[in-house]
Amino acid sequence: MTDRAYFDWNATAPLRPEARAAVLAALDVVAAPSSVHSEGRAARAVVERARCQVAALVGAETKEAVFTSGATEANALALTPDLVAQGRPVTCELLFVSAIEHSSVLSGGRFSAEQVERLPVTAEGVVDLAALRTAIVGAKAPLVSVMHANNETGVIQPIAEIAAIVHEAGGFLHVDAAQTAGRIACDVALLGADMLTISSHKIGGPQGAGALIMRRVQPATPLIKGGGQERGFRAGTENVAAIAGFGAAAAAAAATYEAAGDRMAALRDRFETLLKLTAPDAVIFGAGVPRLPNTSYFAVPGLKAETAVISFDLNGVAVSSGSACSSGKVAQSHVLTAMGADPALSPGALRVSLGWTTTEPEIDRLLIAWKRVAAALLKRQAYAA
Ligand code: PMP
Repeated sequence: MTDRAYFDWNATAPLRPEARAAVLAALDVVAAPSSVHSEGRAARAVVERARCQVAALVGAETKEAVFTSGATEANALALTPDLVAQGRPVTCELLFVSAIEHSSVLSGGRFSAEQVERLPVTAEGVVDLAALRTAIVGAKAPLVSVMHANNETGVIQPIAEIAAIVHEAGGFLHVDAAQTAGRIACDVALLGADMLTISSHKIGGPQGAGALIMRRVQPATPLIKGGGQERGFRAGTENVAAIAGFGAAAAAAAATYEAAGDRMAALRDRFETLLKLTAPDAVIFGAGVPRLPNTSYFAVPGLKAETAVISFDLNGVAVSSGSACSSGKVAQSHVLTAMGADPALSPGALRVSLGWTTTEPEIDRLLIAWKRVAAALLKRQAYAA
């Protein structure tokens, strides 16, 4: 699709060539990985190689990774009151989640609604550490879930500091790293995460695969019971082809993310500079704090995001109105609400997210589209100049 420019990488990233090759090769696997015959062992080898690649991406041990159908399922598996820590059962009384989490975390997993408490964020979209400290004090084995970076704003959370606070209070930390593993440095030990979620399709692997890294704790029971695959943590014959593609994408991302990040940051900054020149009243969310290098989340007074997304699309450019998971519904972003953003701005929030193949001419195309969209929807002819 050379006549189109894709700027929705935080929703899903196009398949990497390495992942495509691995998927195609694995489709010829003839047996289930649990079978003991040679064919089964060949399938097992494909899965284990991928496990090694995925674990290495986040500095985990291979045995700490369990494959799931995606980040949503990994989050649902992790968020349970019944954990096992160093071989001993632990019951978590309460789950604390930041107010800007993905809906799969906000829903609280296997905790009841009364057991889930939301943690506030600052106006820049960073978890309020003082509020976290106060909230978890006195809770019995609190489980805390905070994302590494937010999918809408791209704002990176101070996970190592959060881990220190949580561990001091005798709690456990789950980190949803769907937006960061394979995109920025994401080392499970350096972050201090006890459990960590990864998604395949955010890093150029196929959709429908993910992993939960379980370091200091594990869920006591699986979410999906059955044949005991994945060491009993996730029943069901493994999705061998998707897992193979996930592994290949993880290996490719590990080798290239740093250079890709620098390149994307320069392109993103160029877009934002020109956006501000054409629309000085544009508000760029989270611009004052560390952000993912590929994400720009902004609003301009008077702009309606739904109409703008369609208008961009007609101009050959794919952007998103905030979180893709909630698009299609005309709901205000819960992330912007939690940040206390001006309610007059929120309905116009647009997310532009770049990827490792994004080019300078694509940014030019985005800027031309932006000028047309602004001229048409905001009736500011100066934009079209
Ligand atoms: N967490 C975050 C932060 C995400 O951005 C997403 C994808 N929108 C998910 C979880 C869900 O990932 P998946 O599509 O792999 O279930």
